[in-house]
Amino acid sequence: VQVETLLEVNNIEVIYNHVILVLKGVSLSVPKGGITALLGGNGAGKTTTLKAISNLLHSERGEVTKGSVKYRGETIHELDPAALVKKGVIQVMEGRHCFEHLTVEENLLTGYYTRSSGKADMMRDLEMVYNYFPRLKERRKSQAGYTSGGEQQMVAIGRALMSKPETILLDEPSMGLAPQLVEEIFEIVRDLNEKEGVSFLLAEQNTNVALRFAHYGYILESGRVVMDGPAADLRENPDVKEFYLGMS
Ligand code: ATP
Repeated sequence: VQVETLLEVNNIEVIYNHVILVLKGVSLSVPKGGITALLGGNGAGKTTTLKAISNLLHSERGEVTKGSVKYRGETIHELDPAALVKKGVIQVMEGRHCFEHLTVEENLLTGYYTRSSGKADMMRDLEMVYNYFPRLKERRKSQAGYTSGGEQQMVAIGRALMSKPETILLDEPSMGLAPQLVEEIFEIVRDLNEKEGVSFLLAEQNTNVALRFAHYGYILESGRVVMDGPAADLRENPDVKEFYLGMS
């Protein structure tokens, strides 16, 4: 069966402040309907890769100096976030980034801004989000800044879902969360993938959990992809076991 490729990152180089070469030719692809993991330790370049895809490097004085990023064959790394969302791609940033002073529900509704269909659609999508995140429904009137870290991660993903994305770029969803919550979040990601058909590119330091839920993985070290393969193969790979899964 021919699987359709959505996102194609081809040999990108990223430089910060005109001098610091951080990505040294990264290539990866994200197929439709897959969960693709981008793995690697602290500072390997995962966040930089996601930001290069979604054109979020400028504010950090970073730029893509080589290579290309294509979505369904079109160059996208120069689009602004709203244009990218219209193409079906949205990034959930590391560190969750809720509007702390808005309620949970208001936060979710801000995710709807790029769409032009009516209120009925909006309410239906909100129900869809609550269906995946029943906890957010319980807390919908709470001020987001006062919810737990796990709930804020859910808000961030839920808000992204409100834009009806085809692909979510998810940065380090496990960060700072207790293992049980990490599990809960990844199960929801899997559900969204299977039931809503959302494709994911997911940056994670937690190789163990990511390789259990992803279909395919890329391992980054110092700005280069050093290994890639089906998640099941990576899990069995002796080097991955030794260096990333802490088993030897
Ligand atoms: P983390 O898990 O810590 O987010 P990461 O794999 O996502 O790690 P990046 O955040 O992409 O890594 O960082 C890759 C490298 O780029 C690191 O060495 C980091 O210090 C450097 N870097 C990141 N942002 C900047 C910046 N704005 N200016 C200069 N260097 C930066």
